[in-house]
Amino acid sequence: MNQKIIPYNLMRSNIKKIYIQIKDGKVIVRAPRRFSEKQIDEIVRKKQNWIEKSLQKSQKRQERRAQYTQEEFIQIIEEDVKQLMQVTGLKPKRVRIKEITYAWGTCSSKQNITINQKLICYPKEVIRYVILHELAHLKYMNHSKEFWNLVETYMPEYKKIKKALKE
Ligand SMILES: [Zn+2]
Repeated sequence: MNQKIIPYNLMRSNIKKIYIQIKDGKVIVRAPRRFSEKQIDEIVRKKQNWIEKSLQKSQKRQERRAQYTQEEFIQIIEEDVKQLMQVTGLKPKRVRIKEITYAWGTCSSKQNITINQKLICYPKEVIRYVILHELAHLKYMNHSKEFWNLVETYMPEYKKIKKALKE
């Protein structure tokens, strides 16, 4: 068995379980006071593979840099929205750009679309895909077959782009 222990920051608090978290490329372990350091080490060691993978992912994410100025980014979005609205005939009430943590874009039941500010670090075709994806939600509020067919109609290579977004 691999005995290497990954360095981590230990935080004690009044919780019931041990939580391992990756934040800004660091490993943070939150543990209840009743656990000894040896016990915590043991748990961290068992989770080593997951921790290493998460660290790699987190580093990759941190390395991403903005590819455009904010002005350029807004312009790319505005042009794509305009163009995709024309070809699809789908019209959102409002499109805004905001930093969100749980998705690349959202489409509300009020037909407002939000595009994630973090996409400033991604190539243009990725930004276009997210816009198309959210526009398609104006017609299908789900990820049904019909939804993906609609996306594919206007972006036949969407699967490749979708994959790139997950990295
Ligand atoms: Zn969706």
